[in-house]
Amino acid sequence: MTTATTTATLRRLYIDGTWCEADNGGTLGVINPATEEVIAEVAYGGRAETRRALEAAQRALPAWMKLTAWDRAKILKKTAELMRERADAIARTLTMEQGKPLAESKAEVLHSADTFEWFAEEGKRAYGQVIPHSIPGKRHITVKHPVGVVASISPWNFPVTLQARKIAPALAAGCTVVCKPASQTPLCLIQVFECMIEAGLPPGVANLVVGPAQEIGDEFLENPICRKISFTGSTEVGKQIMRGCAEHIKRVSLELGGHAPFIVFPDADPEVGAKIAVTGKFRNNGQVCIAPSRFYVHKDVEKKFTEAAVEFARALKLGNGLEPGVEVGPMFEKKAMQQTIDLVEDARRRGAKILTGGKRSDRFEKGYFFEPTVLTNVSGELRMMTEEPFAPVMPLLDFSKLDDVIRAANNTRYGLAAYVFTNDLTVAWRMAEGLEAGIIGINDPVPATPQCPFGGMKESGLGRELAHEGLEAYLETKYVSFKLREG
Ligand code: NAP
Repeated sequence: MTTATTTATLRRLYIDGTWCEADNGGTLGVINPATEEVIAEVAYGGRAETRRALEAAQRALPAWMKLTAWDRAKILKKTAELMRERADAIARTLTMEQGKPLAESKAEVLHSADTFEWFAEEGKRAYGQVIPHSIPGKRHITVKHPVGVVASISPWNFPVTLQARKIAPALAAGCTVVCKPASQTPLCLIQVFECMIEAGLPPGVANLVVGPAQEIGDEFLENPICRKISFTGSTEVGKQIMRGCAEHIKRVSLELGGHAPFIVFPDADPEVGAKIAVTGKFRNNGQVCIAPSRFYVHKDVEKKFTEAAVEFARALKLGNGLEPGVEVGPMFEKKAMQQTIDLVEDARRRGAKILTGGKRSDRFEKGYFFEPTVLTNVSGELRMMTEEPFAPVMPLLDFSKLDDVIRAANNTRYGLAAYVFTNDLTVAWRMAEGLEAGIIGINDPVPATPQCPFGGMKESGLGRELAHEGLEAYLETKYVSFKLREG
């Protein structure tokens, strides 16, 4: 934490309808990973500010719940409209604080606007049920009721999308929220808040706090006002939050780490498969929870696939995401780049062969640029095979039998996404049935869309975001039983 002594713009917290500074005047510098410069200071609050935000959300809850889903939808749809109008400006901020190329940032903003619009409509479909009675004179129904005040915590890799997936369904369901973005990437979410405010968001309905994660997390856990925590981030922190929620019987949704297999069958063109694989792998530098991170290629096409993958990876244009034509930006922070260096060093020591990349790019004086890397001679013991890599590394392995590759793909504590490249319907179907993953892309490296469920099996999480399930996550089911008068 720093005190406000720099000249960079100060961005504030948003509590109870007011932009405010931290109580102690503390700020945090937001760094551009392409230039290593501080691009803005953000107010850096703590427990007291979080408590006030929760209290504001609690005060705003009764009136927000009472609005019809149609009226809530108007604000969410207007938010989507404003986000689309300002997509270029928000995308620029996103690229500057996170590093991804501008085209990816813009796609993220537009996808998030779609999420707001989709949940605006889905909020109108929070249906209950009429349940047939078994005892004469009784009648049974269920109605849906908002969970209450929700805390939404997100990481830095998709700072707009991952909050949109929580804010939009929570507000559509009639909940109020306190949002905690990653400390290093709060700026583009501040711009989304500006859209919500201009769209007519009443004070207290959505609040924004930035500050030390443990302090804010403890307030969310220990304050009884907060009825649910929706968390996206690492499996380790997710476990900690789940333990805390158990202590206080709070509802919890968890979107955690992944280690997705990408499996290439020999019936389809390996060069096309390599193009899809490279596109999926190096999007956002591999810093994507659903990024393919282990590549199993059938022996019959291994050579062609490998040659093509190396060629495509080498051709990717690395640079500052603001520059035209750049396809891969810097890694998000110095620590992430160092972890990638360590992963590659571990692979090298254990006999892996680097076919391209494998080092920090020496073309840049500043910034955390790592060359897109393809490796072969890979064994299951490599750290990048057992730990979630979150890095621009593409380890290639081979296989010959479908059942063996399903076993290898499932041999992980994660179960978020999996990818299959084939034109054979039977193979595609058997893989979709056999793979332990919440999201399966058949020839599709970018499967996320607002109307389809997103989430993981095993240690990749609990619950689903997006789709109708994403709305249900913010609703309680109330059962009402009627005993009618006789006669
Ligand atoms: P992280 O360390 O778990 O942080 C994620 C968020 O949690 C940040 O806002 C962080 O705040 C906050 N946080 C950290 N410790 C906390 C605590 N004790 N209590 C409350 N909040 C806490 O995750 P990361 O390494 O930044 O993000 C990458 C991870 O997210 C990867 O594992 C990736 O797979 C996962 N992810 C999953 C999905 C999905 O949908 N399944 C999507 C994207 C990313 P600070 O920034 O202030 O530390």
